[in-house]
Amino acid sequence: MDEIKRVVFNRETEEDQVVGISLRPGRLKDFVGQKDVVHGLQVAMAAAKKRGEPLEHTLFSGPPGLGKTSLAHIIAHEMGSRITVTSGPAIDRAGDFIGILTNLEAGDILFIDEIHRLSKTVEEFLYPAMENFKIDFIVDKGPYAKTINFNLKPFTLIGATTRSGLLTTPLRNRFGIFFHLEFYEEQDLAAIVGASAVKLNVVLEADAARAIARRARGTPRIANRLLRRVRDHVQVKTGTNHIKSSVVEEAMGALRIDTAGLDDLDRRLLSIIKTHYSGGPVGIEALCATLNEETDTIVDVVEPFLLKAGFLRRTGRGRELTEAADKYLRDLPAGKAGKAA
Ligand code: ADP
Repeated sequence: MDEIKRVVFNRETEEDQVVGISLRPGRLKDFVGQKDVVHGLQVAMAAAKKRGEPLEHTLFSGPPGLGKTSLAHIIAHEMGSRITVTSGPAIDRAGDFIGILTNLEAGDILFIDEIHRLSKTVEEFLYPAMENFKIDFIVDKGPYAKTINFNLKPFTLIGATTRSGLLTTPLRNRFGIFFHLEFYEEQDLAAIVGASAVKLNVVLEADAARAIARRARGTPRIANRLLRRVRDHVQVKTGTNHIKSSVVEEAMGALRIDTAGLDDLDRRLLSIIKTHYSGGPVGIEALCATLNEETDTIVDVVEPFLLKAGFLRRTGRGRELTEAADKYLRDLPAGKAGKAA
C-alpha cells in the first residue's frame, strides 16, 4: 500500500510500459478523443500517401500519458512504415545518433520522446538531417579535421515533448506539423477504460467506467492504471472480474484518490502553499524543496492538472492557490491534507 501511495500517479511506471503496449490503440479509428489532432493527421497522412512522400516531421506536445507515443506508433502503422523509438536523454553521443539516422530506410519513422532533452550537439546534427536528409560529421581536430558527409533516406521525425516551451526555435521550426494534446473529457476517458476493460477481460459497468474516468485527471494512462488497481481490488475482495461503481469508490478510497482525482501529493502541495506560503505566490524551486520532490515531477506531472482543474494559478512571481483550492482545503476532513514534508 505504501508503495502504491508513493507512486506519483501520472508518472509512467514499468507496469504501465508493459501493460500500456497491449492497451495501446492500434489504428487511428481506435484512438479516442483529440478530434482535431486525429482529423489533422488523417489529412496529412492521406496527402503524403497521395504524393508518395513520407509524412512531414511531426511534433506532439502535451502532458505525459495523453497519447503522444501511441500516435507515433499509429502513424507508423497507418503509413506502413517501420518505427525506431528513442528518447532525448538516451542519445548522449553524436556517434550513436549517426548510427540511428544512417540505418533509417526511406519512409521510416524515427520517434524521439522527450525531444526537449536532446543535447545541444545532437540537436545540431538533427537540423540538416531534418531539412535536407544530410549530416556532416567532423572527425579529428585542428589541421587533421575532415568532414564526412552522409546522405540519409527521406524519413519522418516524430518528436514528443511535455514542455514545448523548452524546445529551441530552430528545432521547432523544422517540424512541418505540430499538434498540442489537451486533457481528455470524462466521456472519452470512460470510453478508453471501457475498451481497456474488454482487453483485460473484466466486466466494467457504465457508471463504474465513469467513476474511474472522473478521477483520471484527464489522462488515459491514469485511467488505465486506475482500472488495473480496481481490477486487483475486485479480484481480491470478490474473486470475480465484475466491476461496479461501489467497487471503484472502495478502491479509490484505499488509494486515497478523491472524486476530483487528487491524491496525497496534490493535497500536500496545496496545503504547503497555504500553510508555508500563505497561499502564494511561491517560486517553483522553493515549493519543490519544501515538498522534497523533484522539480521536473511537479512541473511535468503534478502541476498541469492542478492548473487545468483551477486549483492553482501561475503568476509572474510563482504559484498561487485559487479560491477553489482554498475551499477544497477547508472542506477536507481533518488529517486528510497529506503529510507535510
Ligand atoms: P504519452 O506518450 O503522451 O506519455 P502514451 O501514448 O504512452 O502517452 O499513452 C499512455 C497510455 O494511454 C497508452 O498505453 C494507451 O493505452 C493510452 N491512451 C492514450 N491515449 C489514448 C487514446 N486517445 N485512446 C485510447 N487509449 C489511449
